[in-house]
Amino acid sequence: MTIGILGGGQLGYMLALAGYPLGLHFRFLDPSPEAPVGRVATRITAKFTDRSALKKFAQGLALVTYEFENVPVEAAQFLAERVPVLPAPAALEVAQDRLKEKQLFQKLGVATTEFAAVANRGVLDFAVQQIGLPAILKTCRMGYDGKGQWILRNAQDVSRAKDELPLERSAPLTKRAKAEALQHAAAFILERFVPFSRELSILAVRGRTGETAVYPLIENHHREGILRLSLAPAPRLEPAIQRMAEDAARRISESLQYVGVLAIEFFEHQGRLLANEMAPRVHNSGHWTIEGAVTTQFENHLRAVTGQPLGATSAVGCSAMLNLIGEVPDSSEVLAVRDAHLHLYGKTPRAGRKLGHVTLRASSPEQLASRLGELSGFFQRPDFCLDAALAPAASLRA
Ligand code: AMP
Repeated sequence: MTIGILGGGQLGYMLALAGYPLGLHFRFLDPSPEAPVGRVATRITAKFTDRSALKKFAQGLALVTYEFENVPVEAAQFLAERVPVLPAPAALEVAQDRLKEKQLFQKLGVATTEFAAVANRGVLDFAVQQIGLPAILKTCRMGYDGKGQWILRNAQDVSRAKDELPLERSAPLTKRAKAEALQHAAAFILERFVPFSRELSILAVRGRTGETAVYPLIENHHREGILRLSLAPAPRLEPAIQRMAEDAARRISESLQYVGVLAIEFFEHQGRLLANEMAPRVHNSGHWTIEGAVTTQFENHLRAVTGQPLGATSAVGCSAMLNLIGEVPDSSEVLAVRDAHLHLYGKTPRAGRKLGHVTLRASSPEQLASRLGELSGFFQRPDFCLDAALAPAASLRA
């Protein structure tokens, strides 16, 4: 059985590695001739909008899935006329637009921070009045890893944002027009800033018959908008918080009739979870599952889309996952640490680029903290975020 995957980055690479033992074959479509999957599978290099390439790509495939959520929805729909596309393009459509995403959460009773649509400069002041400051203004589409965001702490930030934003200048709006603009398609979303205690994510996997399994919550640490470190299961986790996340994941995946792995990111704030965003694919915060869970997120995604029974999602001990950003360490330095596992994606090093990850596994939080400490020499380098690696290590010991 050959599975087509849209996108050819490291997520696709790890999907293929997980799929070979299941007897699956893969074909990828990615616009970049450097896409890492070229090392392990057939790759078609073409734009997602190239219909003749899409036709060629679809030929003989059992199904199509994605490893990149900014694939144009029209491309997924075009393929869906020829071959099953899972998860369905509707999930892609919601996940590509922060406003649609938050409106779905709200409709399903999944708590989020307060938000308002900002269609143009004229409604920014109105939205700020509604939401209050501090707030974050984000592009609804194509923003990722913290790109396309403005933090608004005071009136000066608001007027600076108005000058900087590529929003259409418009005449002052009537009250009714402002209210309408807040409801409809918008270029930006204004969100109330959440002074969260930590960031968490959950991965759920839903099969073709609706069977759902959920991994333990993961604690995530970002710097400059890029994920640096994940701890799984999230330390000091209240069972009620895990239940809230599972409930949200089930509601969202059922409402979308979702098939595959779905990732949802949350803020933990005052004993509650506020959903921030979702990704209709395997997720960076789930890489620890390769060594740290009974079944990896990659295998479970493939089991789900191919209609096979799902694998157990429980954790095996405690894990930490560190992203290798911008540079790759000396392998022997990393592998010298007991139960450290190195994953390199075969990409050319470049500042800010995810080149690989390291997973550390341990039998207790204390042991995990001490193994993280052993990697600290290597994490002294600026890109590797020593504080992000070691502050949670201190909390693991607490
Ligand atoms: P996002 O692109 O929505 O994932 O945002 C990138 C990062 O910005 C998140 O991981 C948070 O650290 C931070 N952030 C995003 N939205 C908010 C918010 N409403 N309140 C506080 N921090 C936020």
